[in-house]
Amino acid sequence: MRMQYQHYDRSAQGWWSGDGHQHISANGANPAALRTEITDVCRARHLHWLCLCQPWCLSQAQLALREPLAFEPWQADNVQVWLGGELPKTRYGHTWWLNLPDVPLPLAQMSDPAIEAWYAGNPMHAALPAYQGASPWACMVAWARAGALPVFAHPTSWWASAPQHRFVSNLATLLPLYALAGIGPLAMVVMGYDADQIFYQQLWFHLLNAGYRVAAMAETDGTLQAGRARFCLGALRSYVWLDPATPLSPKAVRDAVAQGRTLVSSGPFIDATLSHVAGYNGPGVVVPADGARRILRIRAHAAPGHAQRITHIVVYRNGQVLVHQPCTGAPQPIQSMELVLHETENSWYVVKVYGMPGPASAATFDIIAHAHDCLATGATDYAGDNHVALTSPFYFRTEVTRPDPAPMPAPWPDADRQLDALLRPGYSGAWRAHWPNAQPGQAPWAAFAFEELREALAQAAK
Ligand SMILES: [Zn+2]
Repeated sequence: MRMQYQHYDRSAQGWWSGDGHQHISANGANPAALRTEITDVCRARHLHWLCLCQPWCLSQAQLALREPLAFEPWQADNVQVWLGGELPKTRYGHTWWLNLPDVPLPLAQMSDPAIEAWYAGNPMHAALPAYQGASPWACMVAWARAGALPVFAHPTSWWASAPQHRFVSNLATLLPLYALAGIGPLAMVVMGYDADQIFYQQLWFHLLNAGYRVAAMAETDGTLQAGRARFCLGALRSYVWLDPATPLSPKAVRDAVAQGRTLVSSGPFIDATLSHVAGYNGPGVVVPADGARRILRIRAHAAPGHAQRITHIVVYRNGQVLVHQPCTGAPQPIQSMELVLHETENSWYVVKVYGMPGPASAATFDIIAHAHDCLATGATDYAGDNHVALTSPFYFRTEVTRPDPAPMPAPWPDADRQLDALLRPGYSGAWRAHWPNAQPGQAPWAAFAFEELREALAQAAK
């Protein structure tokens, strides 16, 4: 791995770092030797937990999608390796999991071979094929109710396939439905493929502004040593806070993410706490919006490595830049900031810091506005390698006991099929008619049909 993706070991402070989306393949290697290599690499990179996704440890029959997925977790020297399972993996989006038990269904029933053939297919058969697998929605609901936590992967990702240039959707179209139906705690990837993926971040900000609590997660979606550094194991990662009395385990990490106790990083680290809170006071905390004086204390640590420094600290409130502090003057590996708050409204705060080199454009700080401009022009100046970190939100609520919108009943056991007409504009790329310059990975909030889904659920409940 190149130097730019070194990370700290913060486990002594309760922050256990992991990578939940990795596709290391056994690929004929001796499984025991490969497990040792993975454990060694994790330890060298200060990575404590790892979720492996297919094709890891699958037999040929499993790869042929005929048998249930089998996986043996292992641990060694403060490194734990679990099943992440990028499943379901369909036109409706991809999902990886925390605390996932063995997957009881064959892969074929949770993937979408019809549309994968269509992407690469013959123009004589250009109509979108119908979805044929098991209901991704039913899988997600069942696994979540069994105690697993879905993490919505690369949520605005798409590309145009060769040779037909068909629109290949990786949009997380089930994410708004999962939020509206209140199936369980929400977690989504806000850092992945690019260290500063403002389109994931703007989708996250819209969901937070709709009143939901959504934990920030990172992913590499790569392998041990990928061609680009940011796809390598642990380059982009999630830090999860565990109480000192709680040992590292899949359930402990799942529960901490469910409470939003996370931050994501490509190198820097953020100590951020809220004063006058009893007990845990870091990201994910929910406090009364009672106007009381509280101080948001931020200590931003530059990534490990020679001559690293923090270049910007940004605090967002309800999706807008509240404070932007450029860090000029003598380079400092640690930069601090305190913000006095007297919050009286339902609100959320996210802290974002940049190390080197900082964003290519100052316009990037206003994430929602810059994403809108990039959609219109096709600019991708935010993309690539960068040193950046983001906290999960700190929440203020006028009613702390009921912080999120009430769940709306989703009456369909296979809601994705019932709602295909509502999800299709997103996964078919129909929204691109309004955004002809949009580049791969860029998708507007409107593509996720949040308002249309809310209306459909309200109608179905009548
Ligand atoms: Zn993947």
